[in-house]
Amino acid sequence: MAKERKYAIISDIHANIEALDAVIADATAQGVDEFLCLGDVVGYNASPCECIARIRELNCRVIHGNHDHYCSDPTVDLNDFNDEAAAVIDWTRRQLSQDELEWLRSLPMRLKVFGFGLVHGSLDSPADFRYTFNAEDARDSFNIQDTPICFHGHTHVPKIFAMVHDQVIALPPPNEKVMLDHTMKYFINVGSVGQPRDRINQACYLIYTVKGIVGGTIEYRRVDYDIESTAARIEAAGLPTELGDRLFVGK
Ligand code: ZN
Repeated sequence: MAKERKYAIISDIHANIEALDAVIADATAQGVDEFLCLGDVVGYNASPCECIARIRELNCRVIHGNHDHYCSDPTVDLNDFNDEAAAVIDWTRRQLSQDELEWLRSLPMRLKVFGFGLVHGSLDSPADFRYTFNAEDARDSFNIQDTPICFHGHTHVPKIFAMVHDQVIALPPPNEKVMLDHTMKYFINVGSVGQPRDRINQACYLIYTVKGIVGGTIEYRRVDYDIESTAARIEAAGLPTELGDRLFVGK
């Protein structure tokens, strides 16, 4: 009989160290065996170096997100972004050491871990960072998903996409732990640690518990953190204060 294994799956940390530390503490208290990170460690908030250090300390698998790409690849043209986004990317690039930049650049676009998949946005062309907002978007990933379950992030909105026969359905995140149906295929958005956008201002992540490689349970976790401190850091760094304001309303 295979041993049960508990994964904390975290995504879209976005340089929010207060939220990341709160999530690590919560997951540790839940007894997780392993952390997995779906990308966007940096961008938007004001603690990129601290978040990179913390994630590296966890010694976990990490996927490459679009903001990890914008902030670590100097050939990405800032003129392609709105003023707010360009300001943060430019500021973040100036904070990061050569070693941190290289680490961000080295992250893989997708991974398979013991029978389930990890990607930032979508499985079809992961380097294009397409958003999966609805069932139709999810179908593009399902078409090439070769594992029963794949976890993703990118939209900052927790959601479960499931394929039953040829139907794709979108389900809201359950409030309780739920058992996955091993006859269905799942593409699951774990939500965002550092900048939730589903009108809930708590940090969000997911615990996946599985024995062997099929089925298992998922549980979405919401964790309070010190939003005031995160917003104060944004202001002190001279970044647009709207970035702090949106954290209070979760959008
Ligand atoms: Zn993101």
